[in-house]
Amino acid sequence: MHSGAAGVPAEVAESAAPRRAFCARCLRAQVACICQWITPLQSSVELLILQHPLEVGNAKNSARLLHLSVQPSTMVVGETFDAAALTALLEAGGRTPLLLYPDTPGDRSLGIAPPPACDAALLDDPARLRLVIVDATWRKSRKMLYLNPALQTLPRFALRAMPPSHYRIRKAHAPDQLSTLEAAAYALMQLDAAPAHWQALLAAFDGFVGQQLRYVPA
Ligand SMILES: [Zn+2]
Repeated sequence: MHSGAAGVPAEVAESAAPRRAFCARCLRAQVACICQWITPLQSSVELLILQHPLEVGNAKNSARLLHLSVQPSTMVVGETFDAAALTALLEAGGRTPLLLYPDTPGDRSLGIAPPPACDAALLDDPARLRLVIVDATWRKSRKMLYLNPALQTLPRFALRAMPPSHYRIRKAHAPDQLSTLEAAAYALMQLDAAPAHWQALLAAFDGFVGQQLRYVPA
């Protein structure tokens, strides 16, 4: 496990004469820097983003923009996490972790334990909450749940009344599948007291998507 911030591209770290300049903040090539879309937003709910390694170099990935926008937020990269280190991340500061994930009864046959019930009173106190977000494809996210039993012990928060996705880049497996940033934004609208506050995050996401589309051949 390592911090996403430490993921300096090898090209920069090892080459005496780098061919491309990288932005140290968003870790993208300078020409594709997305930092203009970062809108710092304070959150009562703290974020913990667990990013699958295959998402790190994915230009369409929105998790780093989410991480750079929402404060407080922690982002780590890995598939199987050290159990003690993961528990420390989940419980840091005495907050209660809540997994942003739908209830998936079918996963029990895959060896994934059913989640405990979510205490409704918990949802009324965002300052006590840590929203745990798995940034991976659907298939890889299930693998991460399977490989990290601590994630199976978390109560889950499932989005209700899914709004139409703004996401126009990556073809989703389901029509209403949201990007990581959008899912987090809609969850924060429900968990945090001020939904209007989070519109700025979706507006930033639209700018990000527009920038990505300029790199995609028509
Ligand atoms: Zn940047």
